[in-house]
Amino acid sequence: MSHLLNGLAQPELQETVLPYGNLDATAKELLRAAYQVRQRAYAPYSNFKVGAAFRAKENSREIFTGCNVENAAFTPTSCAERTAITKAVSEGYRQFSSGAVVAYKPDVFISPCGVCRQFIREFAGSTDIPIYIAQANDAQSQQEQQEEPFNSDDPILCTSIFNLLPHSFHTY
Ligand SMILES: [Zn+2]
Repeated sequence: MSHLLNGLAQPELQETVLPYGNLDATAKELLRAAYQVRQRAYAPYSNFKVGAAFRAKENSREIFTGCNVENAAFTPTSCAERTAITKAVSEGYRQFSSGAVVAYKPDVFISPCGVCRQFIREFAGSTDIPIYIAQANDAQSQQEQQEEPFNSDDPILCTSIFNLLPHSFHTY
């Protein structure tokens, strides 16, 4: 194998699907934050709402959230992941220990778009970070959403940025 391959990012975490109830408290908190912020999505054109949350590495109690923000001209649209990370960077946080994305489409996990994968990767540094992906349950009542929006048997895709974007572009 060429040594030139060694510098390329390779997945360090095993991709798996776990029931929500099996996740640790910090992963659940991140998913709940992504779920809640999804309700603020500005998506009048696609009606496809996404919420994202990232936990700061420097201060593990600090969670930055974002929703998608669409635009009539389409190109200026910002995805939830980039909204969250842009907020974090503007507040002085550039490293993240984990991320979560919540959206809903029947029978499939919604994973970050290619642009967002590169955007997340920029702030992952040299270490892989876990990304938790859940399906929103829009049938839940407002009160249920406030308390616990997920059921313990809801499937969660536990992946990572290096799984989502192997051999990613990085210059430092
Ligand atoms: Zn995106």
